[in-house]
Amino acid sequence: MATTHTLGFPRIGAQRELKFALEAYWNGDSRREDLLQVAAQIRQDNWALQQRSGQPRVSVNDFSLYDQVLDHSCLLGVIPRRFQDGSSDALDTGFRMARGRAPSGTPQRACEMTKWFDTNYHYLVPELDPQQDFSLAPDKLLAEIAEAQAAGHAVKPVLIGPVTYLWLAKSAAEPFDRLQLLPALLQAYGELFQLLQRQGVDWLQIDEPILVQELEPCWQQALADAYQALAGSDLRLLLTTYFGTLGDNLSLALSLPVDGFHLDTVRGGEEYRRVLAELGANQVLSLGVVDGRNIWKTDLSARLNELQSVSKLLGDRLWLASSCSLQHVPVDLEHESAFDVQLRGWMAYAVQKQQELQLLGDALNGGNVAAALADNALALAGRRSSDRVHRESVKQRCQRLSPRDGERGLAYTQRARLQRARLQLPDFPTTTIGSFPQTPEIRQTRGRYRRGELSEPQYVERMQSEIADCIARQEACGLDMLVHGEAERNDMVEYFGELLQGYAVSRNGWVQSYGSRCVKPPVIYGDVYRDEAMTVQWSRYAQSLTAKPVKGMLTGPVTMLQWAFVRDDQPRQQTCLQVALALRDEVCELESAGIAAIQIDEPAIREGLPLKRSEWDHYLDWAVYAFRVSASGVAPETQIHTHMCYSEFNGIIEAIAAMDADVITIETSRSNMTLLDAFIDFEYPNEIGPGVYDIHSPNVPQVAQMEALMRKAAERLPAERLWVNPDCGLKTRGWDEVGPSLENMVAAARRLRAGI
Ligand code: GLN
Ligand code: ZN
Repeated sequence: MATTHTLGFPRIGAQRELKFALEAYWNGDSRREDLLQVAAQIRQDNWALQQRSGQPRVSVNDFSLYDQVLDHSCLLGVIPRRFQDGSSDALDTGFRMARGRAPSGTPQRACEMTKWFDTNYHYLVPELDPQQDFSLAPDKLLAEIAEAQAAGHAVKPVLIGPVTYLWLAKSAAEPFDRLQLLPALLQAYGELFQLLQRQGVDWLQIDEPILVQELEPCWQQALADAYQALAGSDLRLLLTTYFGTLGDNLSLALSLPVDGFHLDTVRGGEEYRRVLAELGANQVLSLGVVDGRNIWKTDLSARLNELQSVSKLLGDRLWLASSCSLQHVPVDLEHESAFDVQLRGWMAYAVQKQQELQLLGDALNGGNVAAALADNALALAGRRSSDRVHRESVKQRCQRLSPRDGERGLAYTQRARLQRARLQLPDFPTTTIGSFPQTPEIRQTRGRYRRGELSEPQYVERMQSEIADCIARQEACGLDMLVHGEAERNDMVEYFGELLQGYAVSRNGWVQSYGSRCVKPPVIYGDVYRDEAMTVQWSRYAQSLTAKPVKGMLTGPVTMLQWAFVRDDQPRQQTCLQVALALRDEVCELESAGIAAIQIDEPAIREGLPLKRSEWDHYLDWAVYAFRVSASGVAPETQIHTHMCYSEFNGIIEAIAAMDADVITIETSRSNMTLLDAFIDFEYPNEIGPGVYDIHSPNVPQVAQMEALMRKAAERLPAERLWVNPDCGLKTRGWDEVGPSLENMVAAARRLRAGI
């Protein structure tokens, strides 16, 4: 009998209940008991669903009020010194680490956040000392186990594995070899295992997703040592990997003394067959057969065909699950009202994915699921052949693309000469990244228009007045290259998702990004194209108000892909090229409307990097080409900008240069320009605007401070290729900070010019 289980379920609640409960608690609008009550209810609902789906054990400890890695640090007693005081309790200590407040209430540096592997989920990076001791604080974990047991469930707790935990962590101060902490860490795990056993736990899911990355020998050795040391308890371990193949770590994984393996067969393909061939006689194989990273229905018949023989071979040693935790998909399609029946019919959110697993399990166990399978097949066939998905002209245009479509025609140096003549900018030109404060009035206007309370002409008029205001303020600050301010955009991806064909935007498709923050990625379901201009009217209007150049503002093809749920019926690069072509049309139309500079934002290009380094080149090749296709339809006189809000370019600087944007703006202020090194060492050939104004801080940056940063940059990069700008867009700030900050920024630029 094949069984099914859950690697992890979304904890935000079907209507983002946890988000609202958290924010109310943080704002002091609700009591702690209220928050805990909401959290307990979500857990109960999730467990009940797992039980209803026929899963013999429910997952425990996949729930977190903020982040599972943070919880794990708290469980192990890894609390940075600045958050220790002995008096505050675990709950508030965790929130402080996440949100940056010392026990005394004064602001403190929050723990750093970074992306969980190649997902858009952010975890809090554990901070370790060379003398770190690990002292268990198992209350949360044990209480949740007891809670599930009291509700009548058998449990399978989920735990981050020791080696992945060390790998995700960083040194609190001076760098040191974190692996030296492994023995102490393993001792803590050993004690924890005893506690779990005592509480009646038989199976433990232990996640070691680093096994899908290319590991240095010392990390491989650490895995071998760790599981050797942890073997021998009566607790049965399910070693869990996801997000890719084991690749070179396959034999290592198989050699570990564990009681079973979970493999991601969505991204890992057929590799599971090799594991199957070498599986020990008592080991369990859990196959991730339902995509935990995307919202499409599973092809159940195809899966069943594959699984029949495995099931015969393994019997009850075959477990079925989603490929990875379902925390990366929205909760329940039942609560989704934005899609029409057909589109919905192609999709499965977390709840529906549990149903798919149940069906697969039932089918393998001889249940009669013919009707459900037929429905599934019908939906899939409908999707495959739908003319909403396929548009011949788009496919053909994509096929006709040649390397020349990614060429600007003239080399950067020649383009730069023409652009200088056209734009007439001073040295150290000043500009911003695109968005300006999204005031309550702006949000209200968009909301009213959406609800039909404002007519289109009324809406356009209001937005134009926002644009006029924004242009006037930029002129008053003395900026050289202006922007229209992006008042019409709720989100840089969703905005274009609503306008492009082949995209659909959900109403309740929320996925946790970090803490109480959720994102709502649009869905790319079909061939992507542009019906009509998307931004031209706003840019043209803005340009009509000023003699200074106004920069057009678009979201690049890779970011449009990376921050969406992408169709899984063709290679991602194909979809990316379609988006690139749609954007190319927009870029050309902006140019025709008299826009002399156009920015194509690509903040997500780095995070699209595959987990295995050996796959980087292939990704970067198509990603860079897609960007170039979007940018290369215009004349050499038209200046193409791009923007990325990070400054870690080591390892990809060659690709960044290959994008060949005339100007790139990046985030550098917080790193004090040291992160410009990648550009300096590489002798980055085009223009660059290293951010001098940290937009994440409410402080108004001082003239001298920004001037000093720029001087530092100018020491090592040619001054004639430098721009002066903030780190990122200003939409989250208020005008009271933005006005003075930009005035200071312009003053700094003027001083630099005077000094040349
Ligand atoms: N143009 C966008 C803005 O200014 C860029 C946002 C981003 O880089 N994430 O808001
Ligand atoms: Zn940015």
